Amino acid sequence: MDLRYKSYVALYCLIAFAFSIAIRLIWVYQFSDFESFHYADTFMINTNDGYYWAEGARDLLAGVHQKFDGSPIDQAPAQLTFLLAKIVPVSFETLIFYMPAVLGSLIVFPMMLIAYNLGMIEVGFLASLLASIAVSYYNRTMIGYYDTDMLNIVFPTLLLWSLILALRTKEDKYLLITAVEIIAYRWWYPQSYSLEFAYLGLILVYALVFERKESFPIKLIAMMLFAMMGLPILARLIGVSVLYALFKQKKLASYVWYILAIGSILFFATGGFSPIWAQLKSYVFKDAIDVSQQGLELHFFSVNQTIREAGDIPFSVFAERISGHTITFVASIVGYVLLVRRYKAMLLGLPLMGLGFLALWGGLRFTIYAVPVCALGVAYLLFILSSSITGLFVNETLGRILKSSFVVTASLAVLYPNVAHIIEYRVPTVLNKTEVEQLSSLRNNVGREDYIVTWWDYGYPLRYYADTKTLIDGGKHGGDVNFPVSFMLTNTQESAARLARLEVEYTEKAFVTAEENETKEHPKKIINNTAQMSLDYGFNNADDFLDALQTPLSLPQKTREIYFYLPFRMLSIFPTVAQFSNLDLMSGKTVRHPFFYETSRFQDGAKLLQLGNGIALDKEKGALKIGSNEVGVRTFIQTGYDERGTFVKQQQSLHPNGELNVIYMQPYNTFLIVDNAMFESTYIQLFVLENADGRFFEPISLEPYAKIYRLKI
Ligand code: MN
Repeated sequence: MDLRYKSYVALYCLIAFAFSIAIRLIWVYQFSDFESFHYADTFMINTNDGYYWAEGARDLLAGVHQKFDGSPIDQAPAQLTFLLAKIVPVSFETLIFYMPAVLGSLIVFPMMLIAYNLGMIEVGFLASLLASIAVSYYNRTMIGYYDTDMLNIVFPTLLLWSLILALRTKEDKYLLITAVEIIAYRWWYPQSYSLEFAYLGLILVYALVFERKESFPIKLIAMMLFAMMGLPILARLIGVSVLYALFKQKKLASYVWYILAIGSILFFATGGFSPIWAQLKSYVFKDAIDVSQQGLELHFFSVNQTIREAGDIPFSVFAERISGHTITFVASIVGYVLLVRRYKAMLLGLPLMGLGFLALWGGLRFTIYAVPVCALGVAYLLFILSSSITGLFVNETLGRILKSSFVVTASLAVLYPNVAHIIEYRVPTVLNKTEVEQLSSLRNNVGREDYIVTWWDYGYPLRYYADTKTLIDGGKHGGDVNFPVSFMLTNTQESAARLARLEVEYTEKAFVTAEENETKEHPKKIINNTAQMSLDYGFNNADDFLDALQTPLSLPQKTREIYFYLPFRMLSIFPTVAQFSNLDLMSGKTVRHPFFYETSRFQDGAKLLQLGNGIALDKEKGALKIGSNEVGVRTFIQTGYDERGTFVKQQQSLHPNGELNVIYMQPYNTFLIVDNAMFESTYIQLFVLENADGRFFEPISLEPYAKIYRLKI
């Protein structure tokens, strides 16, 4: 009997797992004909950060990487990928594309296991189906979404399962399982500590409130403390194994409190609490972290200033992200409360719920945490309702039929909004085939120690495909490091060229100094590159130093080549790129408001060319009407390609004193209106107009999607 029941459970698990994967193949089906999404005979990934882990795994497979290249060879996602690449007989590109779908679908197993222990496998089955495809869970574990998210919810749900079973069964094996899960979770995702501490706190409260006389919760807490110590993975694994062996000895039962005391001391002594402490410190001393340590106090633009303020998330959006529909979400909360009333161990779902609710203040990315517990909640409510249906009818068969049809209909209704979302959610790949082909061929011509200067959005993909170094990327894009790149892209070629050489050489030098500092008793102070350069060139004002870039400064010795990668993609975010350097570094105030307008929606009339947003070009006068103002156009340029595919441009000078310039990029069907300063910017000159200043730049590869230049100084 029990065996048959178990094989039912196994069957449900497999069906749910297969369902989760099958749903994720919808994307593959939708885009199978999209040639531009393919490279090397397989789909490319659709998340930028994925290229970071891919770089690490690639370097692990190759057995080499470059010093200071930022490759995450020591991090779990890269290591797991490396391991799987060794075992699974598919290409590397195929592996990373399918990994999220398979690993993300593992969520169904801990959910079924929880439900199995509570004796409600049908509830578990529906909950697994829902959780595996719920909007936010799908968005971040969909096929091609190769990032830590693929296991970020699986681990804590597994932890939820073993903690529930530990408290409900009091079996020693769950002590060890819990400890190993914590170690694995922390390995996978170092920020996991917040959930671990939440679980630990909850177990503590549980022990004090419900089981004050029991020794088992004390053992569990001791185990968790050992697993969370600030020690290397191997040391913690040995620690929890020894502890487990000790706990198995019955005669040690009376020493549990001593063990807990030792565990607590070791926990604090090894720095187990420091992640939380660091977090608290950053809140309390938020304003105290300053720049006064630097030799020159500079003010940079903060990235947060460009991201729309979190919060203000409509409740319906929040609910849909978690459950697919507001009604489902409300039902899931009711169901969860009932579930807790019936099984108090389900209180352990609170940390996941709490983190999910943080989304209301901290941004939508948190909703994903509430998905599994909410799915269990709504499924439980549904089955409670269905069992009350049978009681309503005298005729047992009729009652059973109605009950079954209710369950089926309600389940489909719960799943439907999520499936509908998935069909609509057509996420493109990070880059297209042409872009990747260009980068791959670049790889053969550049050195791995060389640098590519470009905006941070393209940092990880570039490092993966071209295997060079980058100044900024998806993980390194604070105002201080974005500043020089933004400055290079939005200022003249002459300034950009000199700053590029300086920034790259200073960046490498700072890496070396930081490394030397690790073994030095008196570490050398490292300050921001821009500040250091200003001081080195004898300026007390960084803005003066930046002005001096227009003059022939003597530059540091060249240690490597530098390339500029200028993609068409950057055109639409160029105003954002510019924001990072449109400020006075000494005061932090915005100094210029560049005029940059891009549109591909325009209407040509006899006299006026309508460019949208109340902007029109008066063709006779050669002037732009912007609202009620009229501004003279200095130059009008049309760019395109001739029959042989050669880049051509026609230029008309209209008003010598005009303040704006109009560029019609015919192949892109795009109009650009830029002020004179923007017109002279390196990006516009090199990408839009191919006007390389031969003293500083040499074209390497000029494709419509992106243009690459080599720095000549
Ligand atoms: Mn490398």
